[in-house]
Amino acid sequence: MPGIWILRIGHRPQRDKRVTTHVALSSRALGASGIFVDTEDRTLEENVKSVTDRFGGDFRIETGIQWKKMLKEFDGEVVHLTMYGQRVDEAMPKISRDRDLLIVVGAEKVPFEVYQAADHNISVGNQPHSEIAALAIFLDRFTDGKNLYSDRDGQMTVIPNERGKTVVEKHT
Ligand code: SAM
Repeated sequence: MPGIWILRIGHRPQRDKRVTTHVALSSRALGASGIFVDTEDRTLEENVKSVTDRFGGDFRIETGIQWKKMLKEFDGEVVHLTMYGQRVDEAMPKISRDRDLLIVVGAEKVPFEVYQAADHNISVGNQPHSEIAALAIFLDRFTDGKNLYSDRDGQMTVIPNERGKTVVEKHT
């Protein structure tokens, strides 16, 4: 199955640490294969790896990547999420399901080069909101909601519970 990759650009380690962590965790939870972050940030890498180690799956994180090079060399389709883009419902059928997908989200102002490099500039509504919300809605729609409860075979598995918390821990 083709991979879904996230490219986070404009990450400022001090200011964006929570937001970028949540971009990574939401991407993982919603079925992405991994995330690439432009600025090097070892703490971010460790935090995300620690969640993957406990909750399972193969989520890759790399920081300190050259985003322009990645956009140029990526073998697949590139989607850029932006409030200025075309409607997500209209764009969705145009995205290939047979090739890897790279989804770009920004932090502050996104350079125009990204708009030009993307195969699809897509909005999730035309109101300004958040990269976490945009990505979550996009991924959920792109995967038809299939990853919300998919099994990751982790050390820890949460069992849905109407009231309390049920966590099953695997002992190896
Ligand atoms: N003002 C910035 C700009 O002009 O690029 C946007 C900053 S916004 C806080 C951070 C990121 O959230 C954007 O780069 C975009 O990826 C995403 N985003 C925010 N609102 C969006 C929307 N309505 N649709 C799609 N993506 C959105």
